[in-house]
Amino acid sequence: MDEELSVLKSIYLDDLEIDSGDPTTVTITIFSNGDENDLDQDKRLLRITFVAELPSTYPDTDSPKITLCRSRGLTDEQLDELNSSIATCLQSNLGSCVLYECIELIRSKLSSYDLPFESCAICLTLMTDRNEIIKTNCHHFYHKTCLKPYVDMRKTELEEKYRELKKNGFYIERDFRQDIEDPVCRQILSSHVIEQLPDTSTIETVSNEEHQELIHQLSPHVRQWQERTQALFQQQKEKGGIIDLDKNQEMIFT
Ligand SMILES: [Zn+2]
Ligand SMILES: [Zn+2]
Repeated sequence: MDEELSVLKSIYLDDLEIDSGDPTTVTITIFSNGDENDLDQDKRLLRITFVAELPSTYPDTDSPKITLCRSRGLTDEQLDELNSSIATCLQSNLGSCVLYECIELIRSKLSSYDLPFESCAICLTLMTDRNEIIKTNCHHFYHKTCLKPYVDMRKTELEEKYRELKKNGFYIERDFRQDIEDPVCRQILSSHVIEQLPDTSTIETVSNEEHQELIHQLSPHVRQWQERTQALFQQQKEKGGIIDLDKNQEMIFT
């Protein structure tokens, strides 16, 4: 078993985690290949985490216990198919080392599925063209042309918020103007994702109003926050006017 693990480690390097507890557990996140031999992370759209628990009797008499979790972009049917092909693979390799085979089996299956079976969370339609898809750093999928107007709108909102705080003398602890959240999970989008979005000028302005409407539906907490901030300004004004930053250096508002 140790020999198998060191071979795996030399193949998958840091992608493979080995926890030599009881039982020994091997974990690796497997991505679909984009185009052939394509190692560009952005093009590897599907993902699943493979966890194998190795009983002390593996490989001689027992198979590892394999769990697939944290999948992205896969249908339930595809997950079932992955699980049953793992079961078959384990069965036919009973008594021998099987981890490499299982991992590569999953990878080739993922690559054959090709496109994520997920709707864009902004326009709610399925993605059918690989070139239109953007995968975020938190592994959510959108049409590039849907994410772009959202990002632009948030940029403007954050810029306005920043200006307003400055104007009212609030102390700003950290420049938040680039903190554009993923519309679904609220993680901050990486600049790498934002850089991949098309120029606004190349996007057909199908229905700007419709987009604004959708985006607003997606970000109720943003509006709540705006309203709260607005109320705070009001309160401050009533309590004695606008705060003078020079006289209140030590005051920190969050
Ligand atoms: Zn879309
Ligand atoms: Zn996300």
